[in-house]
Amino acid sequence: MTWKVLEPLVQADPSAIRSAVRGVTEAWGPKARRQAVQELALALGDQRATFVLRLLNETIAPARRLGLELLPGMTGINANIRRNSREPLRDRRLPHATRLAATKALLRGLDPTGKGAALMLRAYVAGLGRKRILERLDEVAKEFDNPPAMEMVRAELRTLEKLRCPRCGSLRRRKNMAEHLWNRHQMLLVGHRARTANQALDERLAMQPPAAALVEFHRDLLGKGLHDEEAITQLRREAAERHESVCPHCFAFVPVAEPPALQPAETAPGRISANGCAVALSEIAGRARLHIQSDSRVIFDGPDPEASDVPASCRRWAMVCAAVGLVAAAALPVPWHLVTALAAVVVSLALLALASQRSKNPHDPLARAMDLAWQRLIPALPPGDAVARLALASIDRGNPNIRSAALTKAIDDAEQAATLGAVFANALSPLWWLQFADDRDDPTPTLVARFRRCIEGELPLSAAAGLLEHWRRDRPGRADRARMRAMLCEQACESGLGVWDIVELGRAYPPLGSALVTDDVDGLARLCFVWEQRLIRPWQPCGPAATVFELARNAELSAQILETASDLLLYHRLPALGDDPPEALLLCGRGMVYREAVLYEPPGEVRVRTCEEWRGGGYEVRLGPHRLRFTDPPGPIVERLKAWSNFFLGEFLPRAEGVLKYRASDRLSVLLSPVVGRCPACAKAVIPLAGQIGVTASGVK
Ligand SMILES: [Zn+2]
Ligand SMILES: [Zn+2]
Repeated sequence: MTWKVLEPLVQADPSAIRSAVRGVTEAWGPKARRQAVQELALALGDQRATFVLRLLNETIAPARRLGLELLPGMTGINANIRRNSREPLRDRRLPHATRLAATKALLRGLDPTGKGAALMLRAYVAGLGRKRILERLDEVAKEFDNPPAMEMVRAELRTLEKLRCPRCGSLRRRKNMAEHLWNRHQMLLVGHRARTANQALDERLAMQPPAAALVEFHRDLLGKGLHDEEAITQLRREAAERHESVCPHCFAFVPVAEPPALQPAETAPGRISANGCAVALSEIAGRARLHIQSDSRVIFDGPDPEASDVPASCRRWAMVCAAVGLVAAAALPVPWHLVTALAAVVVSLALLALASQRSKNPHDPLARAMDLAWQRLIPALPPGDAVARLALASIDRGNPNIRSAALTKAIDDAEQAATLGAVFANALSPLWWLQFADDRDDPTPTLVARFRRCIEGELPLSAAAGLLEHWRRDRPGRADRARMRAMLCEQACESGLGVWDIVELGRAYPPLGSALVTDDVDGLARLCFVWEQRLIRPWQPCGPAATVFELARNAELSAQILETASDLLLYHRLPALGDDPPEALLLCGRGMVYREAVLYEPPGEVRVRTCEEWRGGGYEVRLGPHRLRFTDPPGPIVERLKAWSNFFLGEFLPRAEGVLKYRASDRLSVLLSPVVGRCPACAKAVIPLAGQIGVTASGVK
C-alpha cells in the first residue's frame, strides 16, 4: 500500500533508488526496515540531503516518515533541512521512535543554548500533555546531558502548570495565578508560595538597604505584569531624583542623555551670579564700586564709572557745616550763636537730603547689574551653562535694547557649539527663549524657523523641545496655541514628516507633543490633509479660501479668528450683502461654522423665506436645524453655504482620515536616534524621559 503512495514521488529517480525505496516499504518488522533504510541511504550517496528535503516537504505521512528515518547518521544536516523537518516532527501520525531518533539527529551540532534547539524540541513535544512532554524531554536529555534549550522548554512548561490559590482554593495557571493573587487578595507569588506585600518586602529588607529593597520590590511587581499605581509613582519619584527614566519593559532605571534643565542665575539687589561668573554693584564708604568676574579672571574691579561723586562730597560738606554750627554755638556771643547754629543745621540737612536723593540709582540696581552683565561679562564668556543661566535670569528684567546685539552673538555661538556637540541643547534653548520674550513684535515666526532647523537635523531637536517647554510654561492663550500648532505642523509636513512621525516625535519629546497636541491624532491628520491639498486647492469651485497655515502668518487676524475656532482648517470670506461688512465662513475640524450655527453634516435643502412686516421683515434662512435672519436678500450667501457644506462636510472632511494610512517614514528614526538609549537591565531600545516611564522605541533601528 505505501509503495503505491510513494511510487509517484520517486518516478523520476534512477531505478536503484526506486527499488531501494520499494525495499523499505516492503520490509517486515523494525529491524528489517532499518536495514532497508540503510540500503536506501547507500543507494542515494551524496544525493541524500536533497532527497530528504524533498520527502520532508511532502504532506503524506509515509514520505515524511521516510524523510525522518533517513536523518540519523546523515552528515551535512543544514539549516534548511532543520527548518523543513519541524513540521514532520509535529506530525502525530508518524511513529514516536522515528521522531525521537530524528530529533536527536537534528539536535546534534546545534548550539545547545540557542533558539534553534528550543524550536526543535518544541516541535517534537507539540500537542502533548504536560506529563508526556516531561517524559519525552527526559528521553532526549539522557543523550544530551540536559542542554540549556531543554531548560527553556521546561520553564515554558512550568508557566502552564496549575496552582491552587491558598486563600480561595481556585485552580489557575501560574501566570494567571500571580494576577489573581494580586488583584483578589493583594498577595504576591514568590516561587510556589503566596506572600503578602509586607512579607515579600521584609524578605528583601534582610538582604538590601531599605531604599533599594523598595525599588526592587516595585520593579518586580510591575515586571510581573501586575498593575500598581503606588509602585509606578514611587519609581517615577525615585527616577526624578536621580534625573533618570524608568524602562517601560522591565522598570529598571535608564540614564537620560540630556542633563537636567538649568536654573536661572542667582540674583540679589545689585548682584547677579552663575557658575562663578558675577556682576556686583556695591557701595564702600559712600563710593559706588563695580566688580565683574568670569569663572577664570576678574574683568573689572574699581569705582563704578557711571556713578557720580556728588553724594559723597555732599555728605562731606554736611559734616563740615555741622562742625561749624557746633563751634559757632560754643564760641559766638548771644544771640548770634543761635542764628549761626540754626543756619548750619539747616544747610547740613539740605546737603544730606541732596546726597540721599542723588545716591539713589535711577534704575533698579538688579536691572543695572543685568545690563552690565550683557554688556561686559557675557561677550567674554564661551557658550555654556553660565550664559544660559544668566539669560534665564534676564527674562522680563533689564533693558532688551541694551542686550540685543550681545544676545544675537551669544545665540550664534551657542548654535555653533550645539551643532558640534560641544554644549548640550539645554544651553541653547534659554537664549532662544530670552530672544522670544524680548521681541516686542511677533516672535513666533522666528521660533518656528528654529524648529524647522532642528527638525531638518541641523540642530538638536531637544533644543526646540526646550524652547517649546519655556513657551508652554508661559501659558500662551488659546489662539496662540492654535497658531503655534498650525505653524509647527506646516514645518513638520514640509520637511517630509507624516502624521504618525509627528505623533512618535511627540512621544519622544513631550514639549513637542503638547505644542502639536499629538494626543488629538484626528485633528493632526486634518491639518496634514489640508497641507497636502494646499496646492491643488480642491475647494476653489466653492470660492477662494485661506488655509489655516496662510492665516497663521498674519498674527493679528489669526489671534482674532483662532480664539473662537482653534480647530480652523479653511477660512472663507462671504460676499457682502448691502452695506453690511462681509461675514466669514469658518471651516473647522468639528464642522462648518457660520455666525453661531455649527453644521456637522450637509443640511440637505436650504430654504429661504420672506418674513412678514409684523415680524420685523427681512428674510429667514433655514440651514439644517438653524434659522438665520437677514435684512437683504441672502441669495449669494445661500449659494455659498450650500456649495461649501456639500463639499466640505460631504467630501473633504471624510477624506481627511486618508493621511493616516501612511506609516512612519525613514526620517523618523534619524530624528529619534539621538534620544534612543538601551536599558542597562534588559538591553531593549528605550527613549528615556527624565522622571517618567520611558517610551518604547521598537521601530527605531
Ligand atoms: Zn484566590
Ligand atoms: Zn529594561
